[in-house]
Amino acid sequence: MMTTNLNQESEISTFQTSDQIETTLRVQTEVLKSIHDFLYRKSLIQLMPVILSPITDPLCHPVYNTQIDYLGQKFQLTKSMIFHKQIAIATLDVNGIYIMSPNIRLELSDLKCSGKHLTEFTQLDIELKGATAREFMSLTEELMIHIFRRVEKFCHDEFPDIKVPRKPFSIYNSWDLREEYGNEFGSEISSLEDDLFWITDFEREFYDKEDPDRKGHYINYDLYYPEGFGEALSGGERDYEYETLVRKIKERNQDCNHFEPYLRFAKQGKLVPSAGGGLGIERLIRFLTKKKHIREISLFPKVPGEKIEF
Ligand code: ASP
Ligand code: MG
Repeated sequence: MMTTNLNQESEISTFQTSDQIETTLRVQTEVLKSIHDFLYRKSLIQLMPVILSPITDPLCHPVYNTQIDYLGQKFQLTKSMIFHKQIAIATLDVNGIYIMSPNIRLELSDLKCSGKHLTEFTQLDIELKGATAREFMSLTEELMIHIFRRVEKFCHDEFPDIKVPRKPFSIYNSWDLREEYGNEFGSEISSLEDDLFWITDFEREFYDKEDPDRKGHYINYDLYYPEGFGEALSGGERDYEYETLVRKIKERNQDCNHFEPYLRFAKQGKLVPSAGGGLGIERLIRFLTKKKHIREISLFPKVPGEKIEF
């Protein structure tokens, strides 16, 4: 992969506090509390985050390598805890788990001005044992309504225009949208919609479940914000059978050796069906507070292509 250094122009200071940062962080505090309250009520178990591991999410778009060599073993910084979620849900006698998971995705600098990318962010990662896509989507809709209601109630003076979403959210299929709007369908439709909505059926990482009856179609989903704010959450039902996982890794020209401990677990028949997803916390706060760039909601933002001071 090409390495580019920060040029003079892009070396802008990322430590800048706006007048409203305290108000924004107050919203974030309400959001985090409402997430824990809701998932506690649903009897989900909270796990601690994994930050260093020999395996992490391969992702389906290019990012810089985060490999670390330590005492003869190679580790990566977590891009997402997908494999740990699958292993945890198979190991524990619980219906569902969640993690406030720090993710490192060293995006290329072309995403500097997207307004929604940080190289270090936190995602609420959820996985539900034996759940269908619809069940996960329904839980997520309830969660979002719960969060928005709480922010509307407790931050009304600062943010009087919070609109609580209504269930069920609209669902679009990515194939239909691509036909209508072209490859940038996500941002196009996000600009046109006025409430949260789903897009389903994306071809992406090998762990998302491929429709057994329609090869090339996937039982997965993205949650989107309206008003052009774009993607909120990615997830799907999971493939968990060893042969299927190996076939899909090879179809993507990826190396089975990179996923060895996970594949060994699958080969022993220990993985189980599940569905889940990851919700970007900073993007959620950005949407609620209607900030132009995601850097504005963080005290120590890491924006691709910008010099990091703290
Ligand atoms: N793959 C998602 C991500 O982008 C997480 C998930 O599917 O649960 O982090
Ligand atoms: Mg995604």
